[in-house]
Amino acid sequence: MSTQEFSLPAIVNRVRTEADAYLLLEELRWGGAPDACPKCGVVGRCYYLNPKNGESRKTRTGAVSERRVWKCGGCRKQFSVLTDTIFHGTKISIRTWLMVIFEMCSAKNSISAWEVSRKYGITNESAWHMLHRIREAMKREPVAGLLRGTVVADETWIGGNPKNRHRSDPRAKDRRKGTDKTPILALVHHETREVRSMGVTDVSAKTLRKVMDDHIDAPNTHLWTDSASAYQQMADEFAGHASVNHTKGQYKGEGGVTTNAAEGFFSQLKRSLDGTHHHVSLWHLHRYLAQFDFLATNCRKTDSERMRELLGNVDGRRLTYKPLTA
Ligand SMILES: [Zn+2]
Repeated sequence: MSTQEFSLPAIVNRVRTEADAYLLLEELRWGGAPDACPKCGVVGRCYYLNPKNGESRKTRTGAVSERRVWKCGGCRKQFSVLTDTIFHGTKISIRTWLMVIFEMCSAKNSISAWEVSRKYGITNESAWHMLHRIREAMKREPVAGLLRGTVVADETWIGGNPKNRHRSDPRAKDRRKGTDKTPILALVHHETREVRSMGVTDVSAKTLRKVMDDHIDAPNTHLWTDSASAYQQMADEFAGHASVNHTKGQYKGEGGVTTNAAEGFFSQLKRSLDGTHHHVSLWHLHRYLAQFDFLATNCRKTDSERMRELLGNVDGRRLTYKPLTA
């Protein structure tokens, strides 16, 4: 497959109308036509509803829509390629969605809601919701399976400085105390480069071990870390454990042991959060981590392959709530 299958100019060229955008999504999600009905699940009874004038149909409000509608012969319900996906109920054109998704899959430093709003002429709030829905499709499968082989584990802290707490913040009095920083643990598979990162409450051995239990098949994994004592305490549970001693200026241990993969991930994450997003609330942090995990895990792929990967993940991932803030 050509690496140029998707690029902004290629999408602009190929997707000239909304109908084109639907056709492209139908091809990517269904290979052309739906197999099973998204409403009742019956297989092989879906058919395309031809618009009466051959091209477009009128919506309930009388406006002309280029939406491509399918019908199920089993439950008699209508649906489209957007039904029950991150696109469900959107008022933004699918053409715009495709371009923004491409930008999210290609930009190393990501693109902010503000940039999307300015560039595509949509409100800041719509852009913000759109980007979060795309991040939803970037999340790894809930049952992604355990990592095994060689896994690098490392932590970092990201977030605000207590000095900058706003006067309205209940903790404003303690401006000199404590930290607003959140510890992030990253697990990076040494061979596949799959990255799983997550915010943790603290970096005690107990907390780290619990997270690792959920993600790593310890008896079949060699763990690479820095010399933090939390890892030493759980070393016995792994097939092997090797560490580099950063405090002694050591960055590569025997047998090529290094935590560089995790450090590289963290520096990209921080550059992007500082440079593009400026302020990420902790409440939404996991969404940004999902995005950076996705980009890092798929870093050996082309922009087009990442776009295909993402569009294969849009099912059943609609965000049903509407957060208020931007
Ligand atoms: Zn049906």
